[in-house]
Amino acid sequence: MKSNVALPPSDFRDTLPTADASGGRRWLYPRETTGRFTRWRTVVAVVLLIVLFAGPFVWIDGHPLFLFNVLERRFIFFGVPFWPQDFYLVAFGLIAFIVFVALFTVVYGRVWCGWACPQTIFMEMVFRKIEGWIEGDFNARKRLDASPWTTEKVVKKGLKHGVFFLISFAISNTFLAYLIGRDQWLTLITDDPAQHLAGLAAIVVFTGVFYLVFAWLREIVCTTICPYGRLQGVLLDKNSLIVAYDYIRGEPRGKRVKSEELRVKNEELRVKSFPDGASSSPTGDPALTLHSRKGDCIDCKLCVQVCPMGIDIRNGTQLECINCTLCIDVCDSVMDKIELPQGLIRMDSQANIEQGKPFRFTARILAYSGVLLVLLGIIGFLLVSRPVMDVTVLRAPGQLYQRETGGKVSNLYLVEVINKTYRTLPVQFRLSRTDAKLRFVQPLSSVPAGEQTKGMFFIDLPEKTIRQNSTPLHIDVLAGNEVVDQIETTFLGPVK
Ligand code: SF4
Ligand code: SF4
Repeated sequence: MKSNVALPPSDFRDTLPTADASGGRRWLYPRETTGRFTRWRTVVAVVLLIVLFAGPFVWIDGHPLFLFNVLERRFIFFGVPFWPQDFYLVAFGLIAFIVFVALFTVVYGRVWCGWACPQTIFMEMVFRKIEGWIEGDFNARKRLDASPWTTEKVVKKGLKHGVFFLISFAISNTFLAYLIGRDQWLTLITDDPAQHLAGLAAIVVFTGVFYLVFAWLREIVCTTICPYGRLQGVLLDKNSLIVAYDYIRGEPRGKRVKSEELRVKNEELRVKSFPDGASSSPTGDPALTLHSRKGDCIDCKLCVQVCPMGIDIRNGTQLECINCTLCIDVCDSVMDKIELPQGLIRMDSQANIEQGKPFRFTARILAYSGVLLVLLGIIGFLLVSRPVMDVTVLRAPGQLYQRETGGKVSNLYLVEVINKTYRTLPVQFRLSRTDAKLRFVQPLSSVPAGEQTKGMFFIDLPEKTIRQNSTPLHIDVLAGNEVVDQIETTFLGPVK
């Protein structure tokens, strides 16, 4: 069912909420609010912050939970070590992640931005809160910024920026600990500074970047810098779940008029417009609609005041909206006060709002969710089935074959074994041909935990069994009784 209710005017697109008429920065002072979504967001934020700060310092069985050492190419994810040889997993994981993010956004909108993005979590749950504690509520902050530089202002601003700098410093150190590992980071900050100039410079640079982002850039990161934010225009459609204003229910907005007041006003208007006693205008005089019942939006503008992006969600979904749900909470509290049902602003799709339908899981949402689950399943399977060893066998370069005593021919091979686990693994090589024999130059019977071991071996074949220049050979690599890798190689030999 299509409604005849007019959409809000679109001239809001002619201006930016964060820029003034001359194009300068318009500083935002979002009003504080609370509500069920805000409470849940706070819980999620606290959990994520604990995980983020604890990540590099949590060790299990002598190994970190996370490590992203790009320089030394050592990666540990949830306690599982990854090697450059696992790059195919990373590549697949990245592709799956991009598909996942795109599909997730098409169906569920920008839930990530408002609920899990580190930028939003630090900005709204840490830095903005500290700003409020030091400078006061949104009105006090606005007054303080507009006031001349008094001792109070200097103290408050100095304290705020000092705390901002300290938190940026803590984030910077945590970030570095993820990159180089806890122990190297500890050495870096406790050792002679002259020995670690590059590392200390990195801490200073990271601190400066984080401070700049949270003290000054703020919402500009989401609207201008973040590529994901800029993709929203192509990812969202009418069926995506978004923070949406129900304009059919809310418009025409305006101060609520009590029904008795409305009746009296309309009666006055009718008498004024039709003194001859007619009860309605045959031409549909618009004056008669002047005091008609308004929509549920009382135009209190609280949803605009709480928005950390400075937008008015009643204008429809916008690129700036990060789905933080603050406007939902504040509008619900307004609806409670005026005794109307909550949900004038709610999580819903534009199509549902247009058609006045309640939110339902559609076949499309279920199908997309199914694809997302399959992707997660494939990644999970690849991770679980990842071999514990990575083995490379290559014929020694520049060597052909040697004739040995007893009518045998030999080839020399180089072998490299990576143990991807945290325990020493036994290793054995088994040839598929029973007439072939494998001889190690130096014994290679085990590989230490998390290490790479190199070796050399000869393979001997009876010359009379060689029928071609390059004979295919199959080698099983075993760790104990388990075949952990299968190698295909070739054996060069003389052909008569
Ligand atoms: S908070 Fe609700 S009632 Fe108030 S202006 Fe926004 S949509 Fe209208
Ligand atoms: S419009 Fe609502 S959900 Fe979107 S950013 Fe503003 S407050 Fe958050």
